[in-house]
Amino acid sequence: MAENDDYYAILGVQRNASAEEIKKAYRRCAVQYHPDRNPGDAAAEARFKQCAEAYEVLSDPDKRARYDQFGKAGLRGAGVHDWAHADVHDIFSMFEEVFGFGDLFGGFGGRGDRQGPQPGQSLRCFIDVTFEEVLAGTEKTVRMARRELCEVCGGSGSASGKTQPCATCGGQGRVQQGGGFFRLVRACPRCGGRGSVVSDPCPSCGGNRFANRRRTIDITIPPGVEDGQRIRYAGQGDAGEPGAPRGDLFAVVRVGEHAFFERHGRDLLCQVPVSFTQAALGAKVEVPILEGTEPMEITRGTQSGDLYRLKGKGLPDLPGRRRGDILVQVIVEVPRKLSRRQEELLREFAATEKKGVLPHREGFLERLAHYIKQRAEAKDGS
Ligand SMILES: [Zn+2]
Ligand SMILES: [Zn+2]
Repeated sequence: MAENDDYYAILGVQRNASAEEIKKAYRRCAVQYHPDRNPGDAAAEARFKQCAEAYEVLSDPDKRARYDQFGKAGLRGAGVHDWAHADVHDIFSMFEEVFGFGDLFGGFGGRGDRQGPQPGQSLRCFIDVTFEEVLAGTEKTVRMARRELCEVCGGSGSASGKTQPCATCGGQGRVQQGGGFFRLVRACPRCGGRGSVVSDPCPSCGGNRFANRRRTIDITIPPGVEDGQRIRYAGQGDAGEPGAPRGDLFAVVRVGEHAFFERHGRDLLCQVPVSFTQAALGAKVEVPILEGTEPMEITRGTQSGDLYRLKGKGLPDLPGRRRGDILVQVIVEVPRKLSRRQEELLREFAATEKKGVLPHREGFLERLAHYIKQRAEAKDGS
């Protein structure tokens, strides 16, 4: 497993690390790679996001168990956030509880930097498609956990729907702390930056305002997608705070292997074995195409490795675009066993070859004779 694929390696912990060790490791990594400490360093930012993803999975017992058993494949539909494309500040506010020493980070991290209701986070899912689905496009159903506004209180967190201005920050959502070097403006610890508090928590969400819900989302995959391509479905991610937009859903496409074809952009390469008599005499052979099979003419004297092109039978690179080709590579197969009769016929055939040597072989024999002569002369000279 590549290091950036192994969540344990990313955080630098053992596979049996405790929740506390994981939290500590994440805190250390987040401090080290925080973009505000590494301005303009894209690698640090990428690393910072990887750490957040690793922490999201390993800090959740359910996600961690899935990951331990099945790797990243086990996380499909588990509602893992799209960290790679998340806003750095969102990442920070997401795991605020990790940073007990929050004061230090509030200044360059949390919600305090943002005004107004917070939009929802983007989610990521993986979609497996076949070559046939790349050809025609397809519809897929994704099941995943998504954060929704509490249905009972509509996201206010209050049973009565009423909130009061927060006394700690005076409704500003931000407080100033410290002095000198560490003079920081951070999200108000009491109201979490919202500027208001709830005195009668909603009985359904307990004042949390959100709840995780399993959702079934239908998505359309256009024709011509590439392996690893990311498709954005706007507004299909987590719910935002009331009045703020939802996050997006990003589907990462994984194109599976095909029994016959190797993809080269729009073109498909396919190897078709033929017998040496078919190659020598010419033949009609059945070759695979995406829609089934098709007869193809092999001309007399076809050599092993020769390519035939089936025009327009490959894949489109974008919806509606012209399809590429299928390249059929002919592989000439020599029999390993011969019947008595076949051997007789071949010996008879071989006898005729002495008179009519093939051009490549003729050239080779000439060069070989020259080589033998050279070696002999070199020996005499020594
Ligand atoms: Zn509620
Ligand atoms: Zn407050």
